[in-house]
Amino acid sequence: MFLFLVLQMKRRQLMYSIFSASTVAVGSQLVGHQPPRASQMEIKKTSQKTSTKTDYEVIVIGAGAAGLAAARSLQDAGREVLVLEARDRIGGRIYTDYNFASHPIERGAEYIQGENIIIWKGIKQYGLKTLPVFEDIKHAFTYFNGKYLSVKQLYKDSKPKALDFLVSRDSELFELAEQWVKAGKPDTTAAKLLAANNVRFSPESYRLVDNSFSSEYAANLQQLGVYGLLEASYEGDGDRNFRLKKGYSHLLKLFANDLNIRHSTPVSKIIWDSDGVQLQTDKNETFTAKKVIITVPLALLQSNTIVFEPVLPPGKRAAIDGLGIAHVTKLILKFDKPFWSKETEFILTTLDTQMWWRSGWGRKKEAPVLTAYTGATNAINFSEMGRDAAINAGLRDLEKIFKIPLKRRLTDALFVDFRTDPYSQMAYSYVPVGGTGLRKKLAQPVDNILFFAGEATNVNRPSTVHGAIESGLRVAREVLSMKSSMENVRE
Ligand SMILES: Cc1cc2nc3c(=O)[nH]c(=O)nc-3n(C[C@H](O)[C@H](O)[C@H](O)COP(=O)(O)OP(=O)(O)OC[C@H]3O[C@@H](n4cnc5c(N)ncnc54)[C@H](O)[C@@H]3O)c2cc1C
Repeated sequence: MFLFLVLQMKRRQLMYSIFSASTVAVGSQLVGHQPPRASQMEIKKTSQKTSTKTDYEVIVIGAGAAGLAAARSLQDAGREVLVLEARDRIGGRIYTDYNFASHPIERGAEYIQGENIIIWKGIKQYGLKTLPVFEDIKHAFTYFNGKYLSVKQLYKDSKPKALDFLVSRDSELFELAEQWVKAGKPDTTAAKLLAANNVRFSPESYRLVDNSFSSEYAANLQQLGVYGLLEASYEGDGDRNFRLKKGYSHLLKLFANDLNIRHSTPVSKIIWDSDGVQLQTDKNETFTAKKVIITVPLALLQSNTIVFEPVLPPGKRAAIDGLGIAHVTKLILKFDKPFWSKETEFILTTLDTQMWWRSGWGRKKEAPVLTAYTGATNAINFSEMGRDAAINAGLRDLEKIFKIPLKRRLTDALFVDFRTDPYSQMAYSYVPVGGTGLRKKLAQPVDNILFFAGEATNVNRPSTVHGAIESGLRVAREVLSMKSSMENVRE
């Protein structure tokens, strides 16, 4: 996701909108290893019907945003659908914690990235309240060259080249990428694109730029492919960002109401032929269906967590293996009381914890909680050092920024690492060098029996909740249109 970068419509525009605002003003994101908290339980209560039936028209694997959207759409169209979900909760990479603080805390997806995206249909339908975020440049801060100061002040004092780089329309990097692609040059990494254009930064400035891209894409400048940067447009999404007041999981709970979901049922094998599929689970259960919709995260497909018999065709395998899996960690730290100024909403840093924000921004009763959202290599480092060391590293970074001792003021902490979560194994996908066109291939059905959805299959809006939902709606349309064409043939 992204931060202000988060942003979204075009991901890259968040940064742009924040920093361009500054230009005008000045010059003119434990999982894993902790016991289930209330969010899980709340969601479990929604577990809908269970039955002993094992043969279905369509089975959806995964009750994340994509799987729920597909199942919702098919069930509303009168189809008989079963959702098999590995975890004891719905939501996948959406996971609101209702116990950690006095208000919901998002362990996974946090922001609604755009005022025009499909999620607003649900928000309106269920009458949900939202909290706007990243609305005003005066709340944007940086930690740069050892100093903590507002983006406005930084710009006024030193106009660092890195900031200019981020400020220039849609970021200079995208302009260079567009020129590169227009000239028909071979795909390369964003880092090599900069070098080829003699764009050079001081080490501190490079950290600022790389951290902003890493926290937005979860992949760094040495991983991101130039052609891939331009593939996702997020066109028309809008450039405002919001949180859901009652949390993302609340929306999903409403959305999943009355769907037929079997929890704690990890699918381990898919045996398929032209007549349909047989699905085997970790618990030695077998389910059969005419069609299956696979929405598990890309990392699980790459690691063959689900065995396909026969194996997937080479084109599909190449699409799976050719896309990138990117990582993010969240350090969510609760303190005795705030030590940050009222103005501070978020801080882009040159430290290992790339970006910090106030998790309860805009709430009347805000808990003293800060979240560090870290992507790419730094996220892998945190993941490998583990919860306690990562939390200590985060505290040290905050002490550098605020120049006060904080260890004794920490009252609780969450370390969120979807990389080590067996049913995610990643945060979200990215397009590496040579990877354009693979999302489309990943999305294509195999023999009209195996269908694919999930954030990684969305060409224009990958790595987002709304992209995942759109992919679920797309796959439902595919299944429905097949059905009607088959009926036409029979008629
Ligand atoms: C830390 C973080 C922050 C993010 N922030 C934002 C944000 O602010 N805004 C935004 O728009 N997006 C954000 N995203 C991205 C967004 O969360 C994802 O793009 C989206 O939720 C993916 O939905 P999905 O349905 O494709 O996959 P998932 O949510 O991963 O759903 C897949 C489901 O499949 C299940 N599953 C896995 N294996 C099996 C199996 N063998 N059998 C059965 N079920 C299985 C999983 O348990 C899961 O429920 C963030 C992601 C992360 C990790």
